[in-house]
Amino acid sequence: MERYYSYSKYLKGIFGERVYRITVDAGFTCPNRDGSKGKGGCIYCYQGSDYDLRKRTLTVKEQISEGIERVRRRYKARKFLVYFQAYTNTYAPISKLKELYDTVREFKEVVGLIVGTRPDCVPQEVLELLNSYTEDYLVWLELGLESSHFKSLDWMNRGHGVSDFIDAVLRTKSFPKIKVCAHTILGLPTENYREMMETADFIASLRLDGVKIHPLHVIKGTLLERMYEKEKFKTLEPEEYAELVVDFIERLPEKTVIQRITGEAPKELLIAPYWCTKEHKNWVINLIREKFEERDTYQGKKCRFRGEVCTREK
Ligand code: SF4
Repeated sequence: MERYYSYSKYLKGIFGERVYRITVDAGFTCPNRDGSKGKGGCIYCYQGSDYDLRKRTLTVKEQISEGIERVRRRYKARKFLVYFQAYTNTYAPISKLKELYDTVREFKEVVGLIVGTRPDCVPQEVLELLNSYTEDYLVWLELGLESSHFKSLDWMNRGHGVSDFIDAVLRTKSFPKIKVCAHTILGLPTENYREMMETADFIASLRLDGVKIHPLHVIKGTLLERMYEKEKFKTLEPEEYAELVVDFIERLPEKTVIQRITGEAPKELLIAPYWCTKEHKNWVINLIREKFEERDTYQGKKCRFRGEVCTREK
């Protein structure tokens, strides 16, 4: 039995087969780096969250083409989603965005478009543009929420508030074919257990379509590394993280797609915790699955937002 609604199950339900993601770096920057919102970026940000710098030397078309070939050879894959991941992928004039996103139209194997961005960077014209792709593609807008607590956003130097996130979500809801996913981080030293669970409730209350859950991890060369060395705050142990993820998912509606349940960085760049590597990824996912089994629980078990009579939380 699937204890949570995984991304692979969701995609299989739509396309009838496994669909693979090709991640591209379209050469964007970020308003939290170039000074228009802030400087220095989010404290954990390592080159806009894409570790493969070679991609920047290629065009988007070359990256998609290479990605499709690589994945096709390895898995005999036939359908692909193109994920604009690095930096803020809506931060350019609308004509430039259209030109970049339109690249997906050159590949008949591509069935979906995923755009990652900041919640304060989705003006109406961007939503209209994204909506124009929904006729032909599955379209996901990925918004960095990270936490529903302003004190944590402030600590991370996100440069936006919780209100920006709500605004982006509410405006996107007027384009029902655009799916919205929130990125979240567990294990922030600014938050206790109840505060982390409040972020899950916040996502549930907004009926988001998807969520990505990551543990806080410290990467070399980031401001977070300097803070970690100085403040010696604790990062999560794998067991602790697995319990938290299960608690978090229990609070989400059954229909929220769980797109990610861990995070990883290249071994040579990772400072802490040791288990946020590609090598540990499946081990962590299995640990989380085992917790679901041990506790005999499932997604939605503790979701509070069903429009039912208010009950006392057990
Ligand atoms: S919003 Fe994204 S790209 Fe910009 S600084 Fe933060 S993590 Fe990096």
